[in-house]
Parts: sequence; C-alpha cells; structure tokens
Amino acid sequence: ETLEVSNFLRQIIDADLAQGKHSKRLDSSGKPLPSVITRFPPEPNGYLHIGHAKSICLNFGLARDYSQALHGARCNMRFDDTNPSKEETEYVDSIIDAVRWLGFDWIHEGVEHQHYASDYFDQLYEFAEKLIEANKAYVDSQSADEIHKNRGNFTQLGTNSPFRNRSAEENLALFREMKSGKYPDGAHVLRLKIDMSHPNIVLRDPVVYRIRHAHHHRTGDKWCIYPLYDFTHCISDALENITHSICTLEFENNRPLYDWVLEALKEVGVFQDPLPKQYEFARLNLTYAITSKRKLLQLVEEKRVDGWDDPRLPTLVGIRRRGFTPESIRLFCERIGVSKADSWIDMSVLEQALRDDLDAKAERAFVVLKPLKLIIDNFDANHSEPCSAPKHPHHEDWGRREFNLSKELWIEEDDFMVEPIKGFFRLYPPANGEAGSRVRLRHGFVIECTGYDTDASGKVIAVHANYFPDSKSGTPESNNYKVKGNLHWVSAKEGIKAEIRVYDRLFTDPHPDSGDKNFLDAINQDSKQILNAYLEPSLKDAQAEQRFQFERHGYFVADRIDHTASNPVFNLCVGLKDTWK
Ligand code: ATP
Ligand code: MG
Ligand code: MG
Repeated sequence: ETLEVSNFLRQIIDADLAQGKHSKRLDSSGKPLPSVITRFPPEPNGYLHIGHAKSICLNFGLARDYSQALHGARCNMRFDDTNPSKEETEYVDSIIDAVRWLGFDWIHEGVEHQHYASDYFDQLYEFAEKLIEANKAYVDSQSADEIHKNRGNFTQLGTNSPFRNRSAEENLALFREMKSGKYPDGAHVLRLKIDMSHPNIVLRDPVVYRIRHAHHHRTGDKWCIYPLYDFTHCISDALENITHSICTLEFENNRPLYDWVLEALKEVGVFQDPLPKQYEFARLNLTYAITSKRKLLQLVEEKRVDGWDDPRLPTLVGIRRRGFTPESIRLFCERIGVSKADSWIDMSVLEQALRDDLDAKAERAFVVLKPLKLIIDNFDANHSEPCSAPKHPHHEDWGRREFNLSKELWIEEDDFMVEPIKGFFRLYPPANGEAGSRVRLRHGFVIECTGYDTDASGKVIAVHANYFPDSKSGTPESNNYKVKGNLHWVSAKEGIKAEIRVYDRLFTDPHPDSGDKNFLDAINQDSKQILNAYLEPSLKDAQAEQRFQFERHGYFVADRIDHTASNPVFNLCVGLKDTWK
C-alpha cells in the first residue's frame, strides 16, 4: 500500500521540488543532499502512543513516497533529549522498537540517521556564544517568577529586564560561569534579545538556556546548563539539513521564533539558505482514549491498567499487544489524513482498519468462549467423525484445518435458550408439542435439540440433541436440510483449554479528559474479562502474536508475552462488527 493521498504538506513539498529549493545542497563531504528530509523528534520521556503513530507515518511516509525526488528523500530519527530529569534510555529503546515495528527505518544509502539533540550540546553552546557576541542574547538574573511576571500576557505588554542591557563581554563571562557550574539552579538564564512588547508572547525575549545540575542519560554530568526546546529544535533541524520540519498545531505561535533563531544564526555566519521551515498539522485526538503522557503514566503508576503494554492502552506497545498490526495502523493513518484543523477521530475508525487488514490475512478457527456441553445422544461414543474447514474462505491454497466431531461437544452458552425469544434460530428444546430446533454444526452435521439438563439451581449444564447421519456438510444429501442456525463447536475430546482475555474500551466517555472532567471517573470497570475457553485442535500450533478470526466472534491474537503451547492465552483484538454502541 502506498500513501498517495494529497495533503497540504505534499503540495508544499511538490512546490519546493518544482522550484528546486533544496536541490543544490551538499553535505560536508561534498555529496548532494536529498531534496526532502523530514524527521521524527520524540522526547524520550515516555512510551509512544497512537498520536505519535500519525506523526511517524507522516514523516517517514513522506520520505518513503518522495524517494524518487532528486537525490532521494529521508526521514531522520531524532531524540529530542534536552530535558535531563525526565528522560531515560528505557524510553529510547522502546521508541526505536515502536518505529521499527510500524515498518520504518532511518537508513538512507547505507547510513543510519539516528540522532540525539544532546549530540549537539557543544554546537548549541557555541551558537549561543555567537548570539551573545552579536548582542542578540543576554544573561538575565531575575528569578523565574519575575521573568514570568514581566513577560506580560495577551492584554499587557512585557517589561524589559533590568539586566537586558548588560554588555556582550559581561554576558559572555556570566554565561561561561553558568556553564562552569559556578551558580545554583535558577540563578541566571540566557534569553534572546527580541522584543518585550511583541504581540506574540513567544517572542518576548524567550529563555533559551537554564541552569540544571542534573545527570543526563547520555552526556552524564558534563553539562549543568541545558538548552530549551525553542532553541534546540530549529538548530537541530538546520544541523541535520531538514527541509520540512513538521509538528503539531500548538507550535504555530513558536514558528516566528523558529525562524528568528535560524535567521540570527544565518546573520552571524552559522547557517545559510535554504533554512528548514516549520509546518504544523492537526494532532490526532481519538475518542475513548487518553494520549497525554502524564495521564498514561498515572494510569500505569496507579495500577489501573496492567503496565505500559496493557492491551487497553493507546500506547503502541499496548495496541501491539492487543493484536493491532503495523499495516492496520498505517492504514488508519492514511484514512484519517493530514489537515490543519483539529478534530476528533472515532475509535471505531481505528478498529475498522484492523478488521479490514485482518479479514484478508487471519486464519479462521473455532473457539468456544463460554462453553456449554452438547450431547448427541444418537452418536456412537467411540466414534470420531473427521471434519475439515478452510483456513481462509478465500484462500483454498492455504489448506484446511482438520478436527473431529464426537458425541460430546462444546457449544456457546448463548447458542441455547430454554425459551427462545422471537427470531432466535439457534438451539431450543421441544415445547408445546413442537419439535426442538434444528441447526447445523458448521462443517459437521445437522442436529435437532431434544432436551437439556439442569443442576440443582436450575442452571442449564448440558443440551441434548440427535444428529442426522446423512446431513454431513459437503455431501449432496446435506442439501436436503435447510436450517437457519449455523453453530461453531469444539469436540470435548480434543478441545484445548485456553485463557481468553476479552477487552473493551478503557473509558465509558468518548472524551474522558475534556473540559474539567477527571478522566479517572470515566474508567470502564468492565473493560477486561477473562474467559476459560476451548480451542479447536489446530490452534495447538499457534505462535505468539499470530492472529486469527475466531468464527462468529472476532479477531484474536495469541498474547505476545504470556502465550505458550502449554498455556494458550489469546486477546480479543476487535469484534467482527462494530457492536459497541
Ligand atoms: P510531551 O510534550 O508530553 O513530551 P508529546 O506528545 O509532545 O509529549 P513528543 O515526544 O514531543 O511527545 O512527540 C514527538 C512527535 O510526535 C512530535 O513531533 C509531536 O508533534 C508528535 N505527536 C505527539 N502527539 C501527537 C498526536 N496526538 N498527534 C500527532 N502527532 C503527535
Ligand atoms: Mg514534546
Ligand atoms: Mg508535547
């Protein structure tokens, strides 16, 4: 599948390519640079979620689709790791896994483009000094509160810091002392000298460096000053020769600052045209889901879910464990498209993408989720009748599943009713002088219900039936039997016991964290159910992470962590139909 749906970003890229905007660039060794270079820049402070998948499919997808552009195209993997206290190597590893799992890599012409903003700390520092020397940055010694207050707001202009007119020499000396560790956290910051009365608050002398005596996951204790996002991001983009820097809409106000920093560094001779440009797109908002890293962390830490890879979470490790395929997520991202207007995408769109992907590729199987014993009284207890079914209805070439029909079978509890409601065509016993219902046991025989057994409490514990020996599926005589019910079943002799985890949406509210709602109030208390089921014998070979359609139920995956041949565990990925409402 290739994403060829036009969107506003493609139009921008097409126009840039037509103009040859990025076509004459060379790298440091004199080799031509691709005319399209994007990047995916996560902060390694948590697990990626479905919203990130949109950004991944967009950035890596553009690189894939523009590979025919002059000198090719690529997407860099960049860890935006400038905040030492929240970032960890564990997150870096999980992010790498997730992006690879989605089917992307960052190798271009044999070279791996995996970068870390922290790799640029030396250059970022050097550029900050150049801006100080050019009188475009200054050390401010106001407290954080004062800086915040003096920035003003939408209705009030900012006021200049009393330290704004320090000389370049004084600023440089102070900045070097900040770097050398002379000052405690918060004593000074470095700010850009832009305009304290600019209508866009982002441009009111933004802070670009602060003192943080903290250990960094990659640079250790080398630094005690760290650059902030607005300074780091645009410079990282320029250093990596990014052409189109794509981010979410909340950074729209920061775009003039992005341009200001790069223009200022162009003036002091660091960068040259064409500079990278920032473009914003609408983030993914998914109903019945939470995509805030902080709230996801809270769900995990308060043990309201079973870890980051809980199949109910929209984390990529969670939806992978739930059984989503990389193809289904890429399909979902194609379907939702890319726009500049915020909107909500319904969870059912994600679920449908999975059904559409799995329908063509998941083998079929019989699994009885809520077993009830069916006894065929006129069937020889010693006989096993061989039956078979295609592994996939449209792929005879995949071969057939073999299983036996025997006197005692498991059927679904819900396929029997003592007193059938109107329109119930499955099993029910004789009543009022009428015979019991007739149904077909799929790929087996037609049976007629003759009665049922109950325990002392009145609960049905077994259903009785007789079969018609000349009704075997696939034989010409079977056509003489017309029945409305068509049930799946598993022989009690050969059914394999399995744990089935049936998941439902984690929240009962489509917008669990909108407005002033507490998302914890909307947790669905019945979102996980464990069933003891019986599998048809062919499933003994199921591999962890293999997906199946359990006929009449939905798509299931052998759990990638807990499933073994001796202890089978399957998760519900998604039901056959959208029955959630
Ligand atoms: P935080 O700011 O809490 O660290 P974040 O969601 O912004 O979290 P990043 O690691 O900065 O996470 O995100 C990496 C990239 O993924 C960014 O380019 C960001 O714009 C994009 N992204 C994050 N969330 C979404 C979303 N819901 N939809 C689309 N893109 C997203
Ligand atoms: Mg971020
Ligand atoms: Mg963010």
